[in-house]
Amino acid sequence: MRLVLLGAPGAGKGTQAKKLIEKFGIPQISTGDILRKAVADGTPLGKEAKIVMDKGELVPDSIVIGLVKERLAQDDCRKGYILDGFPRNTSQAETLDKVLSDMNASLDVALSVDVDKDDLMKRLTGRRTCRKCQQMYNVYFSPAKNDGICDKCGGELFQRDDDKEATIKNRLDVYEKATAPLIDYYGKKGILKSVKGVGSIDEIFSNICSILG
Ligand code: AMP
Repeated sequence: MRLVLLGAPGAGKGTQAKKLIEKFGIPQISTGDILRKAVADGTPLGKEAKIVMDKGELVPDSIVIGLVKERLAQDDCRKGYILDGFPRNTSQAETLDKVLSDMNASLDVALSVDVDKDDLMKRLTGRRTCRKCQQMYNVYFSPAKNDGICDKCGGELFQRDDDKEATIKNRLDVYEKATAPLIDYYGKKGILKSVKGVGSIDEIFSNICSILG
């Protein structure tokens, strides 16, 4: 299955993607995670990307498309994959269609995870991530048992630079302008499905599984 996850930052795409990996045995390709790794590794690409990411803006298409193309060509993508955070605008979506068609493939589903704006702000400003294992928490909805410490591995919890309030506002604006039009784009192609991204993680996942069949 080749799946695109659509939804605003904070809608829970990454969390659901992790559960989908287990169920379907296909990898998650998160351009945000790939870029954050480049930033953490201090590569030239990472240094360039960090400036843009900290402002909540989009990294240039040419960079992101190159990263995705490279990833899709890897062996573990043969059975399918979950694209999380890509495509982010119409130009990326069109390029993806072309890349897939060159590989004699196409997308099966674009799944939109829908959450309203007030909820998104709380989810994003409250989000904390483990430095060691990347496990996510939320100070409002799903706090760690001990403040600032990961339940799973004891690592330190931190707030991503792009989860600060000013950046979040910008990320949500960028989503509205650049990414939300993709709902229409995939609707017209007849592969769009939607799920409400509210309720427990397991409830949302169970709805996703029913939708995906
Ligand atoms: P995410 O974790 O998906 O919210 O991504 C974090 C940040 O990485 C975004 O705010 C962008 O700056 C950058 N980014 C991730 N995916 C893309 C993409 N497909 N195109 C451009 N920039 C991206």
